[in-house]
Amino acid sequence: MSLLQVNNLVVEFPNRRGTLRALDGISFDIAPGEILGVVGESGAGKSLTGASIIGLLEPPGRVASGEIVLEGRPIHKLPPEQMRRVRGRQIGAIFQDPLTSLNPLYSVGRQLIETITTHLPVSAAEARERAIGLLRDTGIPAAEQRIDHYPHQFSGGMRQRVVIALALAAEPRLIVADEPTTALDVSIQAQVINLLEDLQAKMGLTYLFIAHDLSVVEHISNRVAVMYLGRVVEIAPSRELYTHPKHPYTEALLSAVPIPDPKAKKKRIVLTGDVPNPVNRPTGCHFHPRCPKATERCKVEEPVLKNVGTQHQAACHLND
Ligand code: SF4
Repeated sequence: MSLLQVNNLVVEFPNRRGTLRALDGISFDIAPGEILGVVGESGAGKSLTGASIIGLLEPPGRVASGEIVLEGRPIHKLPPEQMRRVRGRQIGAIFQDPLTSLNPLYSVGRQLIETITTHLPVSAAEARERAIGLLRDTGIPAAEQRIDHYPHQFSGGMRQRVVIALALAAEPRLIVADEPTTALDVSIQAQVINLLEDLQAKMGLTYLFIAHDLSVVEHISNRVAVMYLGRVVEIAPSRELYTHPKHPYTEALLSAVPIPDPKAKKKRIVLTGDVPNPVNRPTGCHFHPRCPKATERCKVEEPVLKNVGTQHQAACHLND
């Protein structure tokens, strides 16, 4: 059984001029222990997908239809109090900016212990022991002393390790990681990715891993979903997607990833124009105004996501 299922999810933002449909019927599932990468340009709906799953959509954003099912239980309509319990106990979250997750006024130990005692039946002393263990597991040196330090006393990379410890504090099975390395120095990024990989293997975690950097996602993900304008346009096992993309948008994104071998040649596909405004979606295939392979059919007929290989789906007429 899937750990998480997202079925035909529509997220809308009503405003004075109408309704902005930010997620337009996305579906995917994640098996226990799997890492699903989600990529796309900004405005594709990646972060909104993560926010919907952890129940942190900014008002007036709302799930208009579809469902989010975690371990067989629909969670998209839970009242805020129940969703708070799911968040933390069943789903951990890691955001781009560690300061979003940490309270600057409290020591990291206090924040970890509070999360642990809120969700798990342990004493304060046991919670402190567990908090020190988590800081150790996430690579914080001298965890026994550092537990009493405040967020500003940690470097950016170390702070993100504390956030990872906080996300794991109540032993959730699913971690939603939204651009967890984007704000870090390049030299630190690989360390944090390796840490997330090690923790996943050690604790049997499941990740929804959101990133705009395709090379990061390739390295860590079992499968990758590519989003464009609030839709999943391609989803496939990582290796398959990177070697045999079946959607021109994926091809364009991949062509922009630098390759380590300077002698290897790769033609960069330059996309013209910006991501269109979701209020005013193009007709037919929403990607057609920017697609280098668009035909007349693409301007009028909308492609649907369909099977193009084993576990591989894409939404493009070229696969017909
Ligand atoms: Fe490009 Fe047409 Fe495929 Fe859309 S359906 S991605 S416009 S070729």
